[in-house]
Amino acid sequence: MSLVVQKYGGSSVADAPAIRRVAQRIAAYREAGHEVVVVVSAMGDSTDELIDLAAAVSPAPPARELDMLLTAGERISMALLAMALTDTGHEARSFTGSQAGMITDAEHGKARIIDVTPGRIRQALDDGAIAIVAGFQGVSQTTKDITTLGRGGSDTTAVALAAALGADVCEIYTDVDGIFTADPRIVPLAHRIPLVSHEEMLEMAAAGAKVLHLRAVEYARRYRVPLHVRSSFSDRMGTLIVEGGAHFPVGPEQFYDSGNEVSPMEQPIISGVAHDASQGKVTLIGVPDVPGKAAAVFQIVAAAAANVDMIVQNVSTEITGRTDISFTLPTDDAAQVVDALTTARDKLSFLSLEYSDQIGKLSLIGAGMRSHPGVSARLFAALSEAGVNIQMISTSEIRISVVTAKDDLDRAVRAVHTAFELDSANGEAVVYGGTGR
Ligand code: ADP
Ligand code: ASP
Ligand code: MG
Repeated sequence: MSLVVQKYGGSSVADAPAIRRVAQRIAAYREAGHEVVVVVSAMGDSTDELIDLAAAVSPAPPARELDMLLTAGERISMALLAMALTDTGHEARSFTGSQAGMITDAEHGKARIIDVTPGRIRQALDDGAIAIVAGFQGVSQTTKDITTLGRGGSDTTAVALAAALGADVCEIYTDVDGIFTADPRIVPLAHRIPLVSHEEMLEMAAAGAKVLHLRAVEYARRYRVPLHVRSSFSDRMGTLIVEGGAHFPVGPEQFYDSGNEVSPMEQPIISGVAHDASQGKVTLIGVPDVPGKAAAVFQIVAAAAANVDMIVQNVSTEITGRTDISFTLPTDDAAQVVDALTTARDKLSFLSLEYSDQIGKLSLIGAGMRSHPGVSARLFAALSEAGVNIQMISTSEIRISVVTAKDDLDRAVRAVHTAFELDSANGEAVVYGGTGR
């Protein structure tokens, strides 16, 4: 008997027939003798709809109340799924994040899990029931208020529960057949990656491949939780993110054993192309080029709790002694950061500030980059042949990212995918559901 944590994303529980279909899959695992904990997301695009509703009521909803509202989405799906499971003849009990012991800090909208105390979940399993947990939510240790973990956070709920319960595997069910070399919605010729390292998956998630929440991957690596990303609409194998030596169910009655794995194939140089259209770019023009200015700028940005990604500082001109600093950040954080910087303009003594949300970020990821020169040259050549202008560049050991105009992004992703010979011959990238919102 194994303990399996399964997470179903919004598109997998979008309507009543979908919820009943998912209940059948869960029931099959239970009938094969496994203990099953299920984490659910809100139905379809209902989180976005709740955000729209809040915006229609108030231009700046308080973060505490927004979290209270958004967590209702997952409550609906957890209760409906428990009802559907009861009809399959199994006992099912649903729990909110707080009831399931997801303890977080008090940072509304992007709370971090600081402890997991799944006593009630363990009890439900010991009683022979299937436990269903509302994803994406927790309760603050200090304020006792309800929090959310950030968009896509149900993945992290699932991995954190899997770690706390010592689960054999955490299965992430979504609307595509696993992790692909690019988003199948943009690159229909993307191919599935059967096995991916934590290191590469972290870079892909950080670069915007929203198929997995970044923190879920971090958590899985830290606590050695085998992750299995797959579609709830098919029985295909999906993608495994595992350390060596794992043995876990991949179907109600089938098991995967990494001990059987033939020596891993030679690493491809490039594992995928990720894109992110949710970033904006701030440019401070005419910042005095003296020590301490960058520190002062980014202290203000950090105080606004924004996650800055790429930073570029131009060479200053000797005549003016001033330079320009540009950086990218999530568009959701932009208004706060722009306000804070504008308020501090006299102190920072920059000349002007520009902000644009019409940018896109493309990232090429591959552990093989470390030992293969010429990857950036090939990337820049592919972009130039496609007529795409590069605004910013940043690199890590296994990633190269560029900022382009937003309108160029999809075309750029396809061109780069083709240039690195990642296109599959058989077009296996099926998108089963979801709106991609
Ligand atoms: P869920 O509602 O199941 O959590 P998400 O929309 O959060 O689903 O994530 C699944 C989506 O991630 C896919 O439909 C796909 O458009 C997108 N995606 C982006 N990059 C990739 C990638 N490299 N591989 C697979 N899917 C990707
Ligand atoms: N429902 C939340 C969202 O859309 C959490 C999740 O689906 O993971 O972001
Ligand atoms: Mg998701």
